[in-house]
Amino acid sequence: MFPLVAAEGVSSTVAPSITQADLDSVLDAALSYWAASGLTEDQLSLIESVNFALTDLPDATLGAATSTRVLIDINAAGYGWFVDDTPFDSSEYSLDANGNLVADESSTAFGRMNLLSVVMHELGHTLGYDHDEDGLMGDSLNDSQRLLPVIDDAEASSIDDFFSSLVDGENPLLD
Ligand SMILES: [Zn+2]
Repeated sequence: MFPLVAAEGVSSTVAPSITQADLDSVLDAALSYWAASGLTEDQLSLIESVNFALTDLPDATLGAATSTRVLIDINAAGYGWFVDDTPFDSSEYSLDANGNLVADESSTAFGRMNLLSVVMHELGHTLGYDHDEDGLMGDSLNDSQRLLPVIDDAEASSIDDFFSSLVDGENPLLD
């Protein structure tokens, strides 16, 4: 499977590594987002069975997936991971002119790679999605940016409504 890389290459600084507990905390949220996009029972059990491991991936690689296993770089190619402890809102990010969720300098997510986005990206591969030109399934990620799943099939409109309500700071998963 093709790796997901940092858009600007390896960071010039070396951020601390995260722990498996950090990764697990984000994984729960990633599974909830995908579950809410309307997966079948089989697809759900598939993504729940994926084994996630932290490792020192080469160069600017942030994550990589096979059908049963996902590898996540220990420190996001040097940028450091943003491990979101409020993964169901985007309060650390603002919408820019292009509709992207971007963290400014005052945010704890500034300059870091969004771990939740990368975990959801790799789960997307497990579900059979290949790389797109951009968006969650794009082949690179900018620091300070958060990406969410957009599913463009017949179910799209209700799913888009769901995810835009998340972007607006609402929390339908906990209603
Ligand atoms: Zn990928």
